[in-house]
Amino acid sequence: MARVYNFSAGPSMLPYSVLEKAKNELPEYSLTGQSVMEMSHRSKEYLGIIESCERKFRALLGIDNNYSVLFLQGGAWTQFAMIPMNLMTVNGKADFILSGNWAEKAYTEASRFGTASIVASSKQDNYKYIPKIDTSYLDINADYMHICLNNTIYGTAFSDVPESVVPLVADASSMILSRRLDISKFGIVYAGAQKNMGIAGLVVVVIRKDLLERSADDLPMMFSYKVQNESSSMFNTPPTYSIYIMSLMLDWIMDEVGGLENMSERNNEKAYILYDYLDESKLFKGTVAKDSRSLMNICFITGNENLDKQFCFEAEKSGMPNLAGHRLVGGIRASIYNAMPVEGVRKLRDFMKAFEKEHA
Ligand SMILES: *Cc1c(COP(=O)(O)O)cnc(C)c1O
Repeated sequence: MARVYNFSAGPSMLPYSVLEKAKNELPEYSLTGQSVMEMSHRSKEYLGIIESCERKFRALLGIDNNYSVLFLQGGAWTQFAMIPMNLMTVNGKADFILSGNWAEKAYTEASRFGTASIVASSKQDNYKYIPKIDTSYLDINADYMHICLNNTIYGTAFSDVPESVVPLVADASSMILSRRLDISKFGIVYAGAQKNMGIAGLVVVVIRKDLLERSADDLPMMFSYKVQNESSSMFNTPPTYSIYIMSLMLDWIMDEVGGLENMSERNNEKAYILYDYLDESKLFKGTVAKDSRSLMNICFITGNENLDKQFCFEAEKSGMPNLAGHRLVGGIRASIYNAMPVEGVRKLRDFMKAFEKEHA
């Protein structure tokens, strides 16, 4: 069967050349006579892989030495708890901006560890836009402020990083490496790898080094940023193969795409192929405010639930699976992360046009 254009929200598609490279190296990596899957994580060869992965990640995002990069497990979900466990330790409180379901989960998990306050929210309007932040609500004594940069389920994104006097903590799971991000504005940026930079099993945490001092000594070892940092993400066996695939993804962004600027331009182009069409279509309508549009997850509806379902069904038959919206919101969602080629998006747009003609 021919490969499809997979519009899944995550895990999501990988570039074909990354899969080919992984396939060629699967039984024998370099001249080691073994697969990466079989390697000791402490071997010289594997240390080469994880160190090069970190080096390339730092280079692409311009991360300086004030920050540590940790390769952890448990997905973004575990970070929802690990962040308050480690950081909510000065005044026992933190501020949260609710811009979607994942932001809400981060808030709920944090409230198990201290006082979590909602300082802005668009929940009352079904998260159709990024809420405006009234800085007079922000607590200067909060231990940190948490935001979710791209709201995967609703299809909205922050266009600018909000100002914050306390350390800003950001869930970047569904936008990491899709465009530039000024890491120096953040205390922590974390992201699961399975959307924009690889496969499941790996979550990357970028943390400003002074914040490592907040981790209490009596934390369970695996949940301490300080312990993880001191052991260079090797406190226990790290997700070795997921880190290897991330390293291949970084090579792809650097060598084939030509860097983060090009990646960003390509992602803009892809998103606007769909948004431009949505703006003129008489059948399909975007579901979020224009100034809050995500470049990664594009959500739309026909206004008729059965027609939405028929659309997803027929698109799948044409080699474009996983277009159904998240179960919380329904409708249609095209997730077009880094690995989705421009041709895949054009094919979807042309398919939408034909569907519109047929159902006008
Ligand atoms: C997918 C996603 C998550 C959940 O990630 P897991 O790896 O399943 O824990 C959290 N936040 C955002 C923004 C996501 O897109």
